Order: sequence, then structure tokens, then C-alpha cells
Amino acid sequence: MKMMLPSCREITERASDYLDQNLSPWQRAAFRMHLLMCIYCRRHVRHLDLTVATLGRIAAEDETPQNDDIQQIVELLKRQQNESAGQKGEDGG
Ligand SMILES: [Zn+2]
Repeated sequence: MKMMLPSCREITERASDYLDQNLSPWQRAAFRMHLLMCIYCRRHVRHLDLTVATLGRIAAEDETPQNDDIQQIVELLKRQQNESAGQKGEDGG
């Protein structure tokens, strides 16, 4: 199964949603995954983030991705694969 990552166009279109945290956890993970691989979108989001920051938002994110972020994304991808395997049910916490 192929991973469905957003395109550069989607990234630029959803950049404000990402910064406003209007994306679902999975969407955020896919978004970040793209940013890890795409310097252009990273610059775009960063630039937008700086613009938003002038409106009162605290820009806490560094421009270099952390290993923890990648770890989180990998975990999300694993979960997503398990869910799409067809098994339904709750594991609890
Ligand atoms: Zn891109």
C-alpha cells in the first residue's frame, strides 16, 4: 500500500490550517512528513508562521525537525496501517 502524502499544492493550501491546528492528527502527521522531505514547503510554512506570529502567535517550532517528530509520525503510520488492515475494535489505552 502506498502512503498518501499531501502534494506541495495541498501543503501550501493547508498551511494556515496547519498553523491554526485545524488539521486532524493524521493530517498533521502527513503534513509534517512532507515538510521533512520538502525544503520548499518548509520555507513556505515557516514564512507563513512568521507572518502569523506577528499577529500574536508564539512561534515555538524550530526550522530543523526533531527525531521525536519522526518517531511520532512513524507511530501514527503504524497505527494507520493496522486500522486499514480491516480489524475493528478498541485496544483501550
Ligand atoms: Zn512540498
